[in-house]
Amino acid sequence: MQREIFEAEHDQYRETVREFLARYATPHQQQWESDGIIDKYLYVDAAKFGVIGFSVPEEFGGGGVAGDFRYNAIVAEELARASSGGPAFTLQNDVLAPYMLELTNDEQKARWLPAFASGELVVAVAMTEPGAGSDLQGIRTSAHRDGDDWVLTGSKTFISSGIHADLVIVVARTDPDAKASAAFTLLGVERGMPGFTRGRNLEKLGMHSQDTAELTFDQVRVPSANVIGEVGKGFLHLMRNLPMERLSIAVTAVASCRTLLDMTLEYVKSRKAFGTAIGSFQANKFELATLETEVDLAQVYVDRCITALNAGTLDGTDAAKAKWWTTELQQRLIYTCQQLHGGYGFMMEYPIAKAYADARIQTIYGGSTQIMKEIIGRSLGL
Ligand SMILES: Cc1cc2nc3c(=O)[nH]c(=O)nc-3n(C[C@H](O)[C@H](O)[C@H](O)COP(=O)(O)OP(=O)(O)OC[C@H]3O[C@@H](n4cnc5c(N)ncnc54)[C@H](O)[C@@H]3O)c2cc1C
Repeated sequence: MQREIFEAEHDQYRETVREFLARYATPHQQQWESDGIIDKYLYVDAAKFGVIGFSVPEEFGGGGVAGDFRYNAIVAEELARASSGGPAFTLQNDVLAPYMLELTNDEQKARWLPAFASGELVVAVAMTEPGAGSDLQGIRTSAHRDGDDWVLTGSKTFISSGIHADLVIVVARTDPDAKASAAFTLLGVERGMPGFTRGRNLEKLGMHSQDTAELTFDQVRVPSANVIGEVGKGFLHLMRNLPMERLSIAVTAVASCRTLLDMTLEYVKSRKAFGTAIGSFQANKFELATLETEVDLAQVYVDRCITALNAGTLDGTDAAKAKWWTTELQQRLIYTCQQLHGGYGFMMEYPIAKAYADARIQTIYGGSTQIMKEIIGRSLGL
């Protein structure tokens, strides 16, 4: 089905992103997969092409294109199309940019935004801990005030860009007695601060070229100038940004589905068994027809969410619906497409095999399917 949300300037931008990935990412993909990390300089190149940093105001060296999530969606879609899971561009654009643009004060903007726009400052957000993931109210990393500093102690795990990050937005409990809405503060921990250490780059099932790390904070003195947003309001700041993060994951899911389905259609037309193309067996044809229908329907819903986000009307429930349904579709679709590839679907040189491993995290991070259904259930008064 024809998509209707994009205009000529978006199509042009898509060409730029596609060309950038073809030249700067795809040739290095294999190497980055075995290294377990991408070349950090890719962020600087990406910023030059406007693939990241486009939402930062021009006065700080960014592209000045804020409030149009269609640009964000194009980056996510082209990364999925290129099967490029390493560059954490959606993390920078869709998850971190809102913190950096909307929660920072003027002094922080002047200090951080120019490097964020140029790709020299890679940012991460650290919520999850060994003992607290879905239930963020269980966060134990804490900070107490000492003079003009906050003294931060605790550990985080599964942090995307945890190795590359120059600035980590850490969620810390700053009031042990308050309820969640007043208990947490976001602290900007910078590379090199004494007491801040990174663990190993974690070995994962998929997304091998994206660094994911454990982070430890041992009495790190974080100046109060690095408090991001308001003291005690960290939980509310997180909640505000989650719909956009979840929509970003849904955009990736649908784009990945479209790419892999098209790839599989090509395959089943050329692969023969019992004297005929395997796609012409009715059982396979019907499975593919079902998936084709589901991907189209998912795309329409996600496009509608993009329009709503731009209009400021996307609520957490609709974003949760988009996130769980599209990422679960992605799992089902990959399973079927892999099955249709036969033994070749098990070989890493076939993109469907890599997609199988890379996609598994989609129903877990950014809030699991169960948590999405919990949110939807609550909206139903249950
Ligand atoms: C590759 C990767 C990258 C990540 N990047 C980041 C990052 O950059 N920053 C960050 O802070 N975190 C990050 N995470 C962490 C991720 O968000 C968490 O793993 C996720 O939120 C789930 O938390 P958990 O792993 O502690 O699982 P748990 O919370 O222990 O959940 C385990 C299971 O219990 C289920 N469950 C939990 N509560 C309920 C409930 N109420 N009802 C029904 N079922 C429930 C869950 O759905 C899940 O199936 C990343 C994780 C991975 C693997």
